[in-house]
Amino acid sequence: MLDFIRLLRSYLGYLEALGVEVVPAYPEIKNFLDLDPLVPETLEDLEKEVKRCRRCALHRTRTQAVTGEGPCPAEVMLVGEAPGREEDLEGRPFVGAAGKLLDKMLAAIGLKREELYITNVVKCRPPGNRTPEREEIEACRPYLARQVRLVKPRAILALGSVAARSLLLSDEPLSRLRGRAHELEGIPVVPTYHPAYLLRNPAAKRAAWEDLKLFKSLLER
Ligand code: SF4
Repeated sequence: MLDFIRLLRSYLGYLEALGVEVVPAYPEIKNFLDLDPLVPETLEDLEKEVKRCRRCALHRTRTQAVTGEGPCPAEVMLVGEAPGREEDLEGRPFVGAAGKLLDKMLAAIGLKREELYITNVVKCRPPGNRTPEREEIEACRPYLARQVRLVKPRAILALGSVAARSLLLSDEPLSRLRGRAHELEGIPVVPTYHPAYLLRNPAAKRAAWEDLKLFKSLLER
């Protein structure tokens, strides 16, 4: 079965290299991690695939895809929404002002960026930093599922509504999801505010701090 999927994937890559747009069908998702049965051997394999991906329209406007960075495996995984302008130019997640605030948030609970794996729900920048569309999130979801399986985190911090709703397959607003731990196939997931939101809404920092303390307590178990 896996050989067949590899063959199919390689054929789709061949078609894409010829300029044929592959339009994926989106199955109803019951379980986040069951979506894609093929786990690549390494994150490097996955990164190569993401860099040439054209599964959704965002490939047309990106400078480059931003797959993620950090050690693998890693105890902690952070998932944001999508690359912004600076991430798109630099090819790294969470650079710029939001990235600096994120570093401070992590330091407050004794974590360093180099120790954790960090990525986004969609790997290519939506034009004008708009919120990713549902089709774009669904097209990119297999990459995130494969990253979770490869990184094997002990806990995931979901930064912002798009990350929380995507990981938890939920339509609930972030205000209802944050403040408690959820579970993704045995992995605790703590939703909190995205650092970019906190820069615009400093009053939410108090609630984010509560989320971070909860996240830290899960890691200490
Ligand atoms: S956002 Fe994801 S699915 Fe869309 S082109 Fe980029 S890597 Fe592919």
